[in-house]
Amino acid sequence: MSIVSFKSSQIPLGSRFSRWLIIEKAPPRPASKGPRPQYLCRCECGKEQVVLGQNLLNGASRSCGCFKRERDGAARRARIHISLGQRFGRWIVVGDLERHRRSTCLCRCDCGAEEQVLAQNLLNGTSQSCGCLKAAVNARLQTRHGEHDSRLYRIWRGMRQRCGNPNIPEYRNYGGRGIRTCPEWESYPNFRAWAILAGYEEELTIERKNVDGNYEPDNCAWIPLSSQGANRRNNIRVTAWGETRCLSEWARDPRAVVSRASIDQRIKRGWKPEAAITTPL
Ligand SMILES: [Zn+2]
Ligand SMILES: [Zn+2]
Repeated sequence: MSIVSFKSSQIPLGSRFSRWLIIEKAPPRPASKGPRPQYLCRCECGKEQVVLGQNLLNGASRSCGCFKRERDGAARRARIHISLGQRFGRWIVVGDLERHRRSTCLCRCDCGAEEQVLAQNLLNGTSQSCGCLKAAVNARLQTRHGEHDSRLYRIWRGMRQRCGNPNIPEYRNYGGRGIRTCPEWESYPNFRAWAILAGYEEELTIERKNVDGNYEPDNCAWIPLSSQGANRRNNIRVTAWGETRCLSEWARDPRAVVSRASIDQRIKRGWKPEAAITTPL
């Protein structure tokens, strides 16, 4: 008699395995290796059924089937909200929508892979690619032993604070001016995935192309911390409070109390950008 069948003969009555409650021992099912213990079980939905002890122990049987029916029902309901050609991360829905009994959609990943994906996993963001997205992100992150990740995390946190925390001084120029973080980037993994694909490197900082626009994929790019700005004097870029802008833009910033020329001179003399912008003459 194997160890599994030994244990499976000693399942305590009244114990629970997922949705099953063990009611009583049933006559064992004869098998060539010896009798296999079975139990009369009651599912949470009320249905009673005889289940093999080892299927309870190894998780092969978790309910009378009602769990799967509920999950598939939810998936079918979720599918109603999905249309052909819709994009979810790297997935594009390419077919199978006419078969309404199915709980999955045929999707094509940007890398070319095709797969049936559970509808609710598309809608709730659990599945965003065939796996290549995660692989790309992980590969990029592992090259820097996680340091990469922690700097990026600080950038993300700073961005959300500037837009969402009225108690910090920077808020006035961001959240206070109506600048928001897009809902997708409220989640750090989403932001990180975008960052890596958009070419994030340790030496780069996030820039909003339109300074009045939101933090969102279309309006953001990674640019060098100390960009030489094509060597044009009026295009010198300065990073302060975690954000990089032209010197002339900093001079127009509500925090600036001196002219563009003064900020320029001070930074050339080695002042910290924040001090150069906010210290009165
Ligand atoms: Zn059930
Ligand atoms: Zn892929």
